[in-house]
Amino acid sequence: MTNCAEDGCAREAAVRLHVPWDADRDVCVAHARSLAQRDGVVAEPLEGSQAEWP
Ligand SMILES: [Zn+2]
Repeated sequence: MTNCAEDGCAREAAVRLHVPWDADRDVCVAHARSLAQRDGVVAEPLEGSQAEWP
């Protein structure tokens, strides 16, 4: 499994975020929910993830 890419977060990454102004990152559901609110960010569930998204 991959850990969330956000600093200080140890949850399992479940969603890939495509961020127009930065590199793609894999994050947990909680971080994906907040980051995906920003303009232009596209979130897609990671294959094999057990987490529920959205
Ligand atoms: Zn996280």
